[in-house]
Amino acid sequence: MNCREMNSNLAELLLDARLAQPEARGHLETCAGCRRELAELRATMDLMDQWAAPEVNPYFDAKLLARLRDQRQAPPAGSWERLKARILYGSSLRMRPLMAAALAVVFLLGGAACFELEIHNQPPQESAAVRDLQSLDGNSQVFQQLDSVDQAADQQEPGSGDGAGTPSSD
Ligand SMILES: [Zn+2]
Repeated sequence: MNCREMNSNLAELLLDARLAQPEARGHLETCAGCRRELAELRATMDLMDQWAAPEVNPYFDAKLLARLRDQRQAPPAGSWERLKARILYGSSLRMRPLMAAALAVVFLLGGAACFELEIHNQPPQESAAVRDLQSLDGNSQVFQQLDSVDQAADQQEPGSGDGAGTPSSD
């Protein structure tokens, strides 16, 4: 048995050496590396046995609830927080839905304004059709230039006798 095969037998050796295969026990007697690995695993297991989860404070729930109550009763810090608290908790019961609705409208209007701003800030997007037309326009300009070059060449050609393009008559 080699060290790689020992890996699957280490757990059995760890739990109960009698459960392990005799070959594994034989390998362990001859291989210092596997003995060391087994010892490390055993030390880890011992640590896990000693480790105990910390006990929860029996007053944890009561303390948490008390703190939540304090936070709810404490005056909010910022002016916005104060306003919100006043709208949501401070106003009379009859007015509360109305105030909540007003707050929602404020939020909606604000959101809409932001959205509109974003739309207006975006550069106008040209559609694919516009892009195609523009490229066609560019192509036609290139063709016109080519045509004018041809026409210029045609006009020059009758002047030159041998077709070399240079108007040198000899
Ligand atoms: Zn080994």
